[in-house]
Amino acid sequence: MPASDSLMSDSNPLLQDWQTPYGLPPFATLCPAHFEPALRAAMQMHRDELAALAANPAAPDFDNTLAAFDRTGHRLARVAATFYNLTSSATSPELQAVQRTVAAPMAAHHSAVYNDAALFQRVAVLHARRETLGLTAEQQRLLERVHTDFVRAGARLAPAAQARHAQVMQELARLTTTFAQNVLHDESGWQLPLHGEADLAGLPDFVRANARQAALDRGLPGHVVTLSRSLVVPFLGFSTRRDLREQAWRAWTGRGEHAGANDNREVVRDILRLRNEQARLHGHASFADHALTDTMAGTRAAVQQLLGQVWPRALEAVERERQALLEVQREAGDRGEIEPWDWRFWAEKVRRQRYAVDDAEVKPYFELNRVVQAALDCAQRLFGLQFTPRDDIPVYHPDVQAYEVRNAAGVVTGIFLQDNFARPAKRSGAWMSNLRWQHRNAADGGRQLPVILNNNNFAKGGAGEPTLLSLDDARTLFHEFGHGLHGLLSDVTYERLSGTQVLRDFVELPSQIFEHWISEPEVLQRHARHHQTGEPIPPALVQQLQRAQRFGQGYETVRYTASAMVDLAIHALQDAEPPADVCAWESELLQRAGLPHGVGLNHRLVHFQHLFAGSSYASGYYVYLWAEVLDADGYGAFREAGSPFDPAVAEALRRHIYASGNSVEPGAAFAAFRGRPATVQPLLEKRGLVPVGADA
Ligand SMILES: [Zn+2]
Repeated sequence: MPASDSLMSDSNPLLQDWQTPYGLPPFATLCPAHFEPALRAAMQMHRDELAALAANPAAPDFDNTLAAFDRTGHRLARVAATFYNLTSSATSPELQAVQRTVAAPMAAHHSAVYNDAALFQRVAVLHARRETLGLTAEQQRLLERVHTDFVRAGARLAPAAQARHAQVMQELARLTTTFAQNVLHDESGWQLPLHGEADLAGLPDFVRANARQAALDRGLPGHVVTLSRSLVVPFLGFSTRRDLREQAWRAWTGRGEHAGANDNREVVRDILRLRNEQARLHGHASFADHALTDTMAGTRAAVQQLLGQVWPRALEAVERERQALLEVQREAGDRGEIEPWDWRFWAEKVRRQRYAVDDAEVKPYFELNRVVQAALDCAQRLFGLQFTPRDDIPVYHPDVQAYEVRNAAGVVTGIFLQDNFARPAKRSGAWMSNLRWQHRNAADGGRQLPVILNNNNFAKGGAGEPTLLSLDDARTLFHEFGHGLHGLLSDVTYERLSGTQVLRDFVELPSQIFEHWISEPEVLQRHARHHQTGEPIPPALVQQLQRAQRFGQGYETVRYTASAMVDLAIHALQDAEPPADVCAWESELLQRAGLPHGVGLNHRLVHFQHLFAGSSYASGYYVYLWAEVLDADGYGAFREAGSPFDPAVAEALRRHIYASGNSVEPGAAFAAFRGRPATVQPLLEKRGLVPVGADA
């Protein structure tokens, strides 16, 4: 598209009203050159709105300050959400260049908004009088949240410190963008060609089909292994070529650690140095202390207590698993050391020999479209939601399926976009994002419909072949769909409190609790049907699967907990200067903690996107475990009621957890759902770390 004309604000499609179904972005008319001018123009519009708000001659009250503030910046939010969804799921060198250019100005804009003294003054006046304003509970929550947002962005700092804080935040925005792009570079740049039967040895049909498709996607002959999780993990589990497994493992765990233009080692150090400075400006000794003050856990000690309850039990469990691996390995006549690239291979053998479960036998029952239907059906049975495919809604890639979502009364309550496949121009992992949040604070008093996205990274089946998932993949789809429901079921007045914008260690509760339904016999019976015969998965296979799953819990729990400990420890360092060699620091810490050789980590600091591709999970990787305490205990409410679809429990879950966003303090929201605070015991039982019914 010719650039210059369409960049003018009156012809730039990003700045016009979108005459599309439900006002979705007109993706087909957008090109990378539109984004920078549109973002700059939208930032200016936001500043103008805020200037008018701050200059209001009327004394501040809730409506003319807090509710009004919540209504600002919609144009910017709309353009930015469009941009960041594209840079995650359908990026290009042109979009990446824009991303690098706008990272610092966007961060500077955020700082400018929250460092506006006149604006903060109005918020602070109201905050000081918050008990006397006669606010509703949700209004009080908004006032607290916005006040905290200002304070954490540096609004209370002295001018020089405030200016430095803004600089630090801009520099962090630039560096976290670089970090993510470096990881993507290493992921999309690596492939392992498999030449003939000798290289394909041990691989079942589905891995071969995925490797063939990956080659086709790259215009290559034969088969290739890529670093897409849904390809590299089964490759490590099945390939009998130990030398190739080692190559794949080293490439996977070496992402970000290659000398040259895409080396993340110094990027990590630069980020850590700046985060330490950010924390000090706020009067905290370490970044972890600073980050944890705005969480449900509240303190480092609370997080360490939970990790400390889990770690020794996980080490015991992984040692039991290691012994089982060794026995099977010895029986096979192999006496070598179990290296990290061997663990999954021998674990897969244990699963097949001792639990009679073979991933290749299970996958035909988890065809992607059926798993999607299972998730939609659970949402219907639990919450009354109906999902109708709408092919006229604009999407950014043919892989994306759009749905109109209606509630039990038949009213449209949101739009849902699902993008399930791995592509070279898409980042790895699985995530939920939004194009719009639900709220009822529009200028005309209307309700804004949420537009919610789910991204997965499943390896697409070959041409004409179905896409078959593992149970883990199916659980990932349910997990992200749980986040999606958190966005779609949101029912709050103020946008800042909507959907998943809750405290970080609460945000994984709606996603993780939803994972439970994929394992429910009733759901499996209905939806886990063989893609060729239509037969439901045999109940005996399900039981074997569940036993087999508990077998791998030591491995999963140790690796996860180790990553959480590394995250917390590196962000708890108080020295202004980070360790000279972060990779050496990481391996020393893990050795001291007793991480067994052979387990290995796949979230090493140099590619740990949760920690360094943005800041929202920095010193927050523990949140999955924290939320698992809540989800394991919370799901018990359905067990006690005798049905996974008990209507009263489902309604309490919808109302207190999925609909309430950040309008209620998270501990209170959980207690309102469960009738009491959460306990840790169900988590330990669920992971098979203690016998069921034993004391924690
Ligand atoms: Zn999640």
